Amino acid sequence: MLDILEPGQHKKRLAVGIDLGTTNSLISYVKDGVHKVVTAENGKRLVPSALALVEGQVVVGAKAVETGKALRSVKRLIGKTLQDEDVQKFQQDCPYTISNEDLLKIDLDGENISVIEASAYILKELKTLAEADLNQPVLEAVITVPAYFNDAQRQATKDAAELVGLNVLRLINEPTAAALAYGLDKKAQGTYVIYDLGGGTFDISVLKLTEGVFKVVATLGDTELGGDDFDRIISKKLGCSITVAKQIKERLSSGDTEELTEAEWQMLAEPLLGKTISMLQEVLEDAELDVEDVDGIVMVGGSTRMPIVRNAIERYFGQKPLTDINPDEVVAQGAALQAQALSGGSREDMLLLDVTPLSLGLETMGGLVEKVIERNTPIPISRAQEFTTFKDGQTAMTIHVLQGERETVEECRSLAKFTLKGIPPMVAGEARIMVVYSVDADGILKVKALEKTTGTEAEIEVKPSYGLSPEKMVDMLKASVLHAKDDVEERMLREARLELSRAIEAAKSAFSADKELLEIEKQKVLASAIETAEQGLKHTDKDMVDACLSQLEKDFEEFAEARVNAALKKTMVGKNIDEVQNGESV
Ligand code: AMP
Repeated sequence: MLDILEPGQHKKRLAVGIDLGTTNSLISYVKDGVHKVVTAENGKRLVPSALALVEGQVVVGAKAVETGKALRSVKRLIGKTLQDEDVQKFQQDCPYTISNEDLLKIDLDGENISVIEASAYILKELKTLAEADLNQPVLEAVITVPAYFNDAQRQATKDAAELVGLNVLRLINEPTAAALAYGLDKKAQGTYVIYDLGGGTFDISVLKLTEGVFKVVATLGDTELGGDDFDRIISKKLGCSITVAKQIKERLSSGDTEELTEAEWQMLAEPLLGKTISMLQEVLEDAELDVEDVDGIVMVGGSTRMPIVRNAIERYFGQKPLTDINPDEVVAQGAALQAQALSGGSREDMLLLDVTPLSLGLETMGGLVEKVIERNTPIPISRAQEFTTFKDGQTAMTIHVLQGERETVEECRSLAKFTLKGIPPMVAGEARIMVVYSVDADGILKVKALEKTTGTEAEIEVKPSYGLSPEKMVDMLKASVLHAKDDVEERMLREARLELSRAIEAAKSAFSADKELLEIEKQKVLASAIETAEQGLKHTDKDMVDACLSQLEKDFEEFAEARVNAALKKTMVGKNIDEVQNGESV
């Protein structure tokens, strides 16, 4: 579709927020300061995350549910392989066969689709609904993912969006989105618990806000605890069907106590409520927090409408949880707010939601690591540093990208290596090479090297967190503290060696250019002085290396003087005395 805009009437395209849920999904946007959730054809705002094949066509949402044979909860498969326990469990309840090629595939009545494609179908449906509502193309979105999603799961979600032409402005964690919906990012700091009790799953996240950055400090969940369990206990107690039990449960929330009194309901639900409270206890312990440290509790998911749940939370924390926003829509609302801020808002509205977990740097001479972006820097971030060549006439430079807190290359994690070629030959130290590290909001690092005089550049993209487990990260941090002193000594030694090898390089190049200024005997002395200095590079004691440097400088003193005199003589040849005395003025 071609969109023609009159000059001066550029209508701004809206970026949307998408809550891509396991059971239901939502799409919404903020327009003129108002948040609106898009409705499906049946007038409902929740679109079931379900697919089915009808007359050879893949249908999504309520239409898929109507077939009675819908493929549901594909979110549980995203970024996984057939070997995963969860996938095997999923297969047991799923009417379709799952197979593994490069990606997990589902045989949807003969239509073999990948998990990414299945998610893409859902996203496509949401996108179409929003386009019909807004009467304009929807091309950009913020999509929410569970806080515990790993890199593969996040990347797969992004891939699904790209398949349907949605540019993902940012993936944000579901609990973070819920906190944004309540405007908690506007506060200076705080610790928040996000309590998310849906139909079939339960998730708790602890978020810490400092200087506008939300950090997920702990998560805990149960993929088999939710509203369905509450339905089951009513059905068992009253001997009714699950469907009827669910209606009774929902009526109880509005104070209808025809079938059960409040006290009976409270007693009946106690084991389930207790389970969520002990999980809260566990997650707070994990985060080394007491209930008093918690500044707010955000309620997410349809089951948090139950007064018995709200009361249990209030009793446990000693404060009322936040319940003003529709608990089914709070995550989508946060995503929509973030989409608006990223697409049109001012820089101050831009939320910094994450930090670099470890420092990012590059290898410099002597196997040392120079940090370019320190750990715990809020992202997105871009930092530049200038480097230079080590040797005369050097035309290429290898950039070795490293991650970690230690001072030496061997102790850090190697992320990538690339070479900048085509540096014009110059004297060592004269080239100016700008190296730029940028980490985008999704944690993806781009490194660019640029030689300033010629504009030659080279670039690489890396994913710093790929394959790095939280345990490994903690190990790396611990090691950096443990070895802090050794590391400083090692750095000093390597720097001393570096200085010595620079002096050796300079001595060699001067020697080969002008050795005829010296008698043969003197030449031999200096050649052996260079050899001695080269041996000195092997010393493991910094002072010994320094001593070698002083010695070399001393040995070359006389020669250096002779070179200066010879050079001066050269400039005077062919000029008369007056010219020399008056400088270059002709
Ligand atoms: P979700 O997965 O977030 O859509 O949550 C759906 C669950 O919320 C289902 O178990 C519903 O029965 C439950 N739910 C929705 N509204 C209410 C209500 N008013 N009272 C109790 N449970 C509800």
